Amino acid sequence: MISQEFSASAMNRLRRRGAQFDYRADDGTIPISEDQWRKVLYKVQDEIIQGSYRYRSFNVKKLGDKKLLFTTKSLENILVIRKINDNVRRAYRVRQANRHDTVVQVKQALEESVPKRIYKLDIKSFYESVPKRKLLSSLKKDRLLSNVTLDLIDKLFKYTSHLGARGLPRGLQISATLSELVARRLEQDLREIDGVYYVARYVDDIIILTNNVKSDLIPDISRKFAFHGLSLNDKKLLEHSVKCRCSEGCSHKNGCPCARKCSCKPILSNNSMRELDFLGYKLAFPDVNGPNQSKPNDIGVYLADKKVDKYKRRVWRAVEDFLRTQDQEMLLKRIMYLTGNHKIAESDDGSALYGGIYYNFNLYASLAEPGLCFDNKLASLDRFLEKALLRAFKICPVTRLTVREILSLTFSNGFKWRRRRAFTPSEIVRIGACWNEL
Ligand SMILES: [Zn+2]
Ligand SMILES: [Zn+2]
Repeated sequence: MISQEFSASAMNRLRRRGAQFDYRADDGTIPISEDQWRKVLYKVQDEIIQGSYRYRSFNVKKLGDKKLLFTTKSLENILVIRKINDNVRRAYRVRQANRHDTVVQVKQALEESVPKRIYKLDIKSFYESVPKRKLLSSLKKDRLLSNVTLDLIDKLFKYTSHLGARGLPRGLQISATLSELVARRLEQDLREIDGVYYVARYVDDIIILTNNVKSDLIPDISRKFAFHGLSLNDKKLLEHSVKCRCSEGCSHKNGCPCARKCSCKPILSNNSMRELDFLGYKLAFPDVNGPNQSKPNDIGVYLADKKVDKYKRRVWRAVEDFLRTQDQEMLLKRIMYLTGNHKIAESDDGSALYGGIYYNFNLYASLAEPGLCFDNKLASLDRFLEKALLRAFKICPVTRLTVREILSLTFSNGFKWRRRRAFTPSEIVRIGACWNEL
């Protein structure tokens, strides 16, 4: 087991793992030589041993509606916060949530041919509403963290409160970890609600499935939230049910066909489909279960509304920029970037990580009915792209060859063929320049 001690060597290990850009020591310098590093590390170690460590200053930025963003340029701060974070993550086995697996699980749960009610929950101002005192005392009770770690968390809470933070200070890595602990406890409590048989959570996005299709579980859910000092965001609350259409008021005149066993048929039409935007996808499913219990329900996986909007905005910005600069080369690159895939990083084992239309949405699978959720399909994005480009070329004509080259790029093909494009880091910066602020 790795020690929770704030030793110079432990902090040194963490400094090697994280980026060091722009963090300065108390004297305003950025240490370079091992000697200079040693000086900083031992000074922090000694301060912590003597109990005299004080947090250095934070930059506080207003994010609107009472939200503050905390950042720091202090090397001493970042070394200590990294070690606190590392201690908490190890002690509580906090792991990076997996978006892909979470969506797969929710889809499988929806495929099950059983009557169910589905809730999508959003925590209102999550970070800001976490009760710090209560969190700290539960951490103490758990006895998983060293006293020094607890004391440094306490000091961080006090200092950032003093600077105006409500709840967990947004922007600091440690807050993400601590919020995970709070969300985890909330999740455990939600599982205990009568009738709840499945809970999916990704950071603070929560989906609940219950076989209690009759009664509304919102009061129970709200109570669990309140217990943790949190509240439900009513505006983002979503509720659907998949059940016999006759279960609440039957319109059949003489003899309901569903009287003994539901005989409702799933219809693949926009009216009888239910939609759930979750982690970048839109899951679409019929309002009734299929007749055959052993056969999975049809579930379509589309692009979430927010993602569609983002792509459209980016296409639009790329076109606007082209009309301003008439830079065909750049327009081509931007559309290649949007409709294709590219390497984003190299993982520790040397294998490449990719992003782009296929890699970000590899679960995308539309249902056979072509008109269903059309706005959330790749084909709809293709249509939007084509229209925007043709309009641009009308205003600012380019050679036939260029027209053909750019128009051959589609989201559907980038997805289907997993097309990868190689861009240099500086190219990516220039490509992104026109939608950076988005
Ligand atoms: Zn009926
Ligand atoms: Zn029925």
